[in-house]
Amino acid sequence: MKKKIVAKGSLYPKKTVTKKNTISKSGQISLNSYEVLLQNNKNWAAETIKQDPDFFHRLANVQKPEFLWIGCSDSRVPADRITGTQPGEIFVHRNIANMVVHTDLNLLAVLEYAVNHLHVKHIIVCGHYNCGGVKAAMGRHNLGIINKWVRNIKDVYRIHREEIDYQTKESEQLNRLIELNVQEQVMNLAKTSIIQKSWKEEQRPYLHGWVYSVDDGIIHPICEMGHDDHIDPLYEFDDL
Ligand SMILES: [Zn+2]
Repeated sequence: MKKKIVAKGSLYPKKTVTKKNTISKSGQISLNSYEVLLQNNKNWAAETIKQDPDFFHRLANVQKPEFLWIGCSDSRVPADRITGTQPGEIFVHRNIANMVVHTDLNLLAVLEYAVNHLHVKHIIVCGHYNCGGVKAAMGRHNLGIINKWVRNIKDVYRIHREEIDYQTKESEQLNRLIELNVQEQVMNLAKTSIIQKSWKEEQRPYLHGWVYSVDDGIIHPICEMGHDDHIDPLYEFDDL
């Protein structure tokens, strides 16, 4: 006879987390780190309504962003903060080292939605100097599944090896690979049928490759591509 499997406890997450706050000697309650986020959120929502009473009402049912941002997951590079944009202005996809991988269903779904449903005018691939993901690709350490993700960056290195190795300092080699990786990811966008079809039918979106400097907060434009630019014919569809 088969054993009956009985689930212990609730199958659903608890509605509230009851981890206790600590009270300092002076009687002040110190919030847990994640509770600070929730408190900040309440403060932000209240302040936003105070400044612009219609803000949330306007955004509640529709988003019409002009930009798709493909950036690194690095916590130091928040798309809206560094571009001075507001909720509703940028559609965002982030992954380690801002990669455009043609088999990444997540990226492709975001791209398809941004181009064909939101009708974005610009797509920005934004890397950043001193990127840990690109650094991992330059090394030979076993980092588990991360190696699989950054493997494509090793290919970028191989293609541009002469130029990268020409740099004398290791930090300069890393930063040049970061720039070239952004350029390759812009090219990878141009290789997709989603972009090529949109270029053919609507002459948009414009593609931009940028690199953000974590040292001074400045974004450096690296490359651009539009509907009248061409890629290697090997990657061009002729029956879209
Ligand atoms: Zn990064």
